[in-house]
Amino acid sequence: MALMTGEQYVESLRKLKLKIYLFGELVDNPVDDPIIRPSLNSVKATYDLAQDPRYAELATAVSPFTGERVNRFLHIHQSTEDLANKVRMQRVLGQQTASCFQRCVGLDAINAVYSTAYECDQAHGTDYQARFVEYLKYCQANDLIIDGAMTDPKGDRGLPPSKQADPDLFVHVVERRDDGIVVAGAKAHQTGSANSHEMIVMPTQSMTEADKDWAVAFSCPMDAEGVFLIMGRQSCDTRKLEGGTLDVGNPDFGGQEALIVFDNVFIPNEHVYMDGEYDYSGMLVERFAGYHRQSYGGCKTGVADCVIGAAALAAEYNGAARASHVKDKLIEMVHLNETLWACGLACSYEGKPTASGNYLVDLLLANICKQNVTRFPYEICRLAADIAGGLLVTAPSEKDLRDPVVGPWVDKYFRGVASVPTEDRLKVMRFIENMVHGTGSVAYLTESMHGAGSPQAQRIMISRQADLEAKKALVKKLVHIDN
Ligand code: SF4
Ligand code: FE
Repeated sequence: MALMTGEQYVESLRKLKLKIYLFGELVDNPVDDPIIRPSLNSVKATYDLAQDPRYAELATAVSPFTGERVNRFLHIHQSTEDLANKVRMQRVLGQQTASCFQRCVGLDAINAVYSTAYECDQAHGTDYQARFVEYLKYCQANDLIIDGAMTDPKGDRGLPPSKQADPDLFVHVVERRDDGIVVAGAKAHQTGSANSHEMIVMPTQSMTEADKDWAVAFSCPMDAEGVFLIMGRQSCDTRKLEGGTLDVGNPDFGGQEALIVFDNVFIPNEHVYMDGEYDYSGMLVERFAGYHRQSYGGCKTGVADCVIGAAALAAEYNGAARASHVKDKLIEMVHLNETLWACGLACSYEGKPTASGNYLVDLLLANICKQNVTRFPYEICRLAADIAGGLLVTAPSEKDLRDPVVGPWVDKYFRGVASVPTEDRLKVMRFIENMVHGTGSVAYLTESMHGAGSPQAQRIMISRQADLEAKKALVKKLVHIDN
């Protein structure tokens, strides 16, 4: 079953024994939970897209390991075209869900682990890549969702893992056995964890010899013994419990993050891809982050297409679409968004093969891409809120609209252009509200800021890649400075 249908994916999740806590309670049936379900629908979209013949080239690829057509989210990039098709696919999914579809962290993890394990094997005589390829073939054959887990809770940011008051603030090896390792710790802000079959866990930063036990990478089923999740909450999330669809803004889709706790979890040797090779933790982090910073040039531009579309509809329903300043604001939004798109494509097309043969994005351009993503979506949202008007946050509830007494008054006084039903105008307002202030703002704004690393993380990478010496040399040559 190299390609599952969306429905098969949903059924496959029902078979997992996920331990998920939400609002202080163990969730009985996460698949149908009203808070979690919209995020599952977003992941399901990655399966539906792969089944759609119109997107076969974007959403699937032929695995070099099995010769079978697999979901692109499980593909090891073989060319710059693969890298570009990845962001094209992400843009389409962003457009279809206006949300985080969560599967890219796994795609970025498999590509980062694949090349890093190879180079680590060359230096240390380990056999991590061969183990990893076997695992990947299993995931490809079963079309599984792999969650890529990197961010540790980190405790005191001024201290390395080995100096923390609590050693569990970074995932680490607590015991080594002949047949595997036992790990403890947690991964925070973990996108997609409640909707994944598997996860790949990676270190979150460069390590030194003292941090050897924290330099660990492995894969593990999401329902392994000792693993449990504590769901993060999102602004306005309990609107999903009210029963209607209007007030949630984006009724069918969403994203989610959780804390994954590893309470002494056994990992068999065949699923360990780094154990103590601290000199390769920095490479793994840099590559995963590079791929995920490229990803944002795809997914966030797709989400922004929906925000821009909603702003244009709001202008139309308000009767303001012909105003020149409104037209200009929409142009500005498109300009900002397509600049991000250009960065996503540029870092893909400037990608190069690694020593292992898979393709890595241009790291400087990927970091430029993500640095812009930490800014432009905020400006796009500011302009959307400007165009929409105050109704964005003052509209009465769906219950008021449906109420026999106040409903007619809501309908009368919140109508804009006479030909457009008030309900349609309110739907668009709620959609924008969701993206700017509600559950959708997690994916479009906060993730844009902190996902794949906060702005400063990109600036550090930009400074490393900038090669100022080469730029100084250019000028020296031009003005005849010889030393
Ligand atoms: Fe994919 Fe974007 Fe979500 Fe990251 S934030 S997992 S790139 S959709
Ligand atoms: Fe993200």
